[in-house]
Amino acid sequence: MEYEDRYRQSQRPKYDCLLFDLDDTLYPLSTGLAKACLRNIKDYMVEELGIDRNKIDDLSNLLYKNYGTTMAGLRAIGYDFDYDEYHSFVHGRLPYENLKPDPVLRNLLLSLPYRKLIFTNADKVHAVKALSRLGLEDCFEGIICFETLNPIHKNNVTEDEDEDEFETNTNPTTSNNYNGSEIFDIIGHFAQPNPDTSVLPKTPIVCKPQENAIELALKIANLNPQRTLFFEDSVRNIQAGKRLGLDTVQVGASQRAKGADYALESIHNLREAVPELWEADIKSEVAYPGKLAVETSVTA
Ligand SMILES: [Mg+2]
Repeated sequence: MEYEDRYRQSQRPKYDCLLFDLDDTLYPLSTGLAKACLRNIKDYMVEELGIDRNKIDDLSNLLYKNYGTTMAGLRAIGYDFDYDEYHSFVHGRLPYENLKPDPVLRNLLLSLPYRKLIFTNADKVHAVKALSRLGLEDCFEGIICFETLNPIHKNNVTEDEDEDEFETNTNPTTSNNYNGSEIFDIIGHFAQPNPDTSVLPKTPIVCKPQENAIELALKIANLNPQRTLFFEDSVRNIQAGKRLGLDTVQVGASQRAKGADYALESIHNLREAVPELWEADIKSEVAYPGKLAVETSVTA
């Protein structure tokens, strides 16, 4: 029995779970969704938040760079808005018709005997729509998305000290009325010599690449970072994942950035770039003929 246990241990696959970003990871940039999304975010800032269009490029760059998403940055510097309305504005007009069913990726995913999860900063409506357009909706155990990481909804008015914040969220008449004094001038801040990033206001939104967002995702899905392979197109998300002990695959790049264990130009190259994902499968199959699916899910 002892030998059997040792043998079993040595054949154990390296990973329990494959954790996938969605946008620009499971489909390429050439679909034009990322570009359209950025344009919609900028339109939202002008049309819904009343921000001067001349400032939009600088502002969205600074917010994205310092807060992970423009949305997280807008909240940090003092804008308040309904998260669902924001998401439906920026995702509602995306060219989803450019996302086509991807049977090659589907077969790749279905041939991998690991837990598979989506981990995206986007909202659930977008994630479900994109996955279903790609024909991948049944390839994953679950989706960790904006609502998973930020479960406090606008209608959840509580009795505690956060009550005011929720109430402002629900009031459309105040949400668009900003005067200069309420908003942190992040453009002005970074125009100073040697700007101090430690004084930047904090965001209430939890999103990648914050380490607490990744830790929360791992906790929700009950994942051991050492036994999870994380697929991402964003280098900073990869680096954050690496700091927390995840193995990482950079998608959409031919050269590995710092923090990436593997690089793939396309997710379609997965078998060539990470062949050990299937090698573990083959070894398990030899050791446990006919019981592959059960064994791998039991050890996971
Ligand atoms: Mg992405």
